[in-house]
Amino acid sequence: MSDQKVEKNKVVSVEYTLRLDSGEVIDENPGDPIVYLHGAGQLIPGLEKGMEGMSIGEEKDIVVPPTEAYGEFDENAIQEIPRSAFGDNPIEVGMKFYADFGDGNSVPFYIKEVGEESVVVDFNHPLAGQTLHFHVKIVGIRDATAEEIDHGHVHQ
Ligand code: ZN
Repeated sequence: MSDQKVEKNKVVSVEYTLRLDSGEVIDENPGDPIVYLHGAGQLIPGLEKGMEGMSIGEEKDIVVPPTEAYGEFDENAIQEIPRSAFGDNPIEVGMKFYADFGDGNSVPFYIKEVGEESVVVDFNHPLAGQTLHFHVKIVGIRDATAEEIDHGHVHQ
């Protein structure tokens, strides 16, 4: 129904453009909206909060500080590890790997520098420390099914 608002347990379709402070567009999806379950933590907190209460067809600029997005940049999250830890795998700057700490959680990290003997890796999210500037347009809202709410995601 057209009087639907973005709120918890709604399935929301949204088109967005994402810019950095510099104005550089790093992501956009015109004509190909993401469809997500609102209130289930699928999007970064600041973006969900900013879209709360919007209606279909409405557009809005939402500025999200790092603490509501991918966190502050942490110098301690940059570490040097032996090249041998990667075995014979080819490694290049910018590649993404997952560290398995044996507790069932794997943590992504990125290759920052590759040396002969050692590799500098970065556990920060690539957008850590960045203020994100979204322009969003709500293109669809519907009630989530009981099963979707139970699962915490959208069934298409
Ligand atoms: Zn499911």
